[in-house]
Amino acid sequence: MQLVDQFLRKINYLRVSVTDRCDLRCVYCMKEKMNFLPKNEVLSLEEIERLCDNFIELGVEKIRLTGGEPLVRKDVLTLIKNLNKKKSTTNLKEITLTTNGSLLKKYAKDLKQNGINRINVSLDTIIEEKYKEITRFGKLANVIEGIEEAIKHNIKVKINTVVFKNFNEDQTKELINWCNNKLIDLTFIEVMPMSDTDMPRHMQFVSLDKIYNNLENIFNFEKSSHKTGGPSQYYTSSKLNIKVGFITPLSNNFCASCNRVRISSTGKLYMCLGQNEFVDFREILRTDRGDDYIKEKIRFALSVKPKRHDFIINPEVKPYINRHMNETGG
Ligand code: SAM
Ligand code: SF4
Repeated sequence: MQLVDQFLRKINYLRVSVTDRCDLRCVYCMKEKMNFLPKNEVLSLEEIERLCDNFIELGVEKIRLTGGEPLVRKDVLTLIKNLNKKKSTTNLKEITLTTNGSLLKKYAKDLKQNGINRINVSLDTIIEEKYKEITRFGKLANVIEGIEEAIKHNIKVKINTVVFKNFNEDQTKELINWCNNKLIDLTFIEVMPMSDTDMPRHMQFVSLDKIYNNLENIFNFEKSSHKTGGPSQYYTSSKLNIKVGFITPLSNNFCASCNRVRISSTGKLYMCLGQNEFVDFREILRTDRGDDYIKEKIRFALSVKPKRHDFIINPEVKPYINRHMNETGG
C-alpha cells in the first residue's frame, strides 16, 4: 500500500506532535507568554496510536514524535513502546524523536530499550549564557549530559541548529568542530515565519546561502548523496568526520521531494508545514466514525496536499501561518 498525493509524491513519513507544551521558550518558536491548549483538546495517547495505525496501514513507514517537547508528555514512553511493537508486524520501519534534549539524560536508556535508534537534538549554541538567552531559561549542561547519555546507549544523535540573526551566525564553525569531536552530524536550519513571536521575523532570519559560503571557504565541502528522508542537503569535508546539512525552506525550496505530513497535538492533519489548510481528525476519532472513514479522510487530505509552501520574510508582510511551530512540531 502506498500513499501518493496529487503531485505523485510518495508520502511515507508522519510527524506527530504529542504535546504543544514545552519546558523551554525558544525565542524563534514561541512568545515568552504562551497560552497552552486545554488538556481535553489534546489527543489522548490512544487516539494518537489509532491515527498512527491507520497511517501505517496506508503505507507510512517512519514516524517522528515531536512537539512542543515530546519528553514532557506524560507516558510518552507507553506510546513509543506500543509503536515499537508494530515494527515487527506492519510497514512501520522506524520511530524517531525530535527533542530539545533537556530530559534526555533521564529518558535515553528507556528510549533505546523501546526501539529508538536515532534522535534529533535541537541545539543552537554551545555557549552557556547564549543558550539561556535563546531558550529563555534552559540549561546547556542538561542538553550536553542528555546527548552523552544517548550516545552511551547507542542512540545516533543528530544536532539541529536554527541560525538566528546576530545570535549564532558567528558560531557555526565552532558548532561544526564541537559536533565533529563527538562524531555527531549537524544540520543548520533557516528560521521560518511560523506565526508571530516577540521579535519580527526579518530581525531573526539569516539566509543559509551566506553561512554556507563562509563555511565552504573553511571546509571545502563536497556535496553528499546521503539522504535521511528529509529536506537536508548534506556535505562532507576531508577536514571532518561528520556530515553537515543545510535545510533552506526560504532560500532554496525543496517541496518537490516532500514525503511527509504532520499531525498536530489536537489531531489536525497539516499536509504542509508552510500552509494553513488542515483536516481535523479529533472529532472523527471522538465520534468513532470507524477506521475506514479515517482512511478515506487521510486519502482526501493527500489529494489536496499543497504543491509548496510560500514562506516569505519581509517587514511589510505579516506571517500568514497562524500557528507556532510547537503546535505542529518541526
Ligand atoms: N521541542 C523539540 C525541539 O526543540 O527539538 C521538538 C519541537 S521543535 C518545534 C522542532 C524543531 O523546530 C526544533 O529544531 C526547533 O529549533 C525548530 N523550530 C522552532 N521554531 C522554528 C522556526 N520558527 N523556524 C525554524 N525552526 C524552528
Ligand atoms: Fe520548545 Fe522546541 Fe519550541 Fe524550543 S523549539 S520552545 S524546545 S518546542
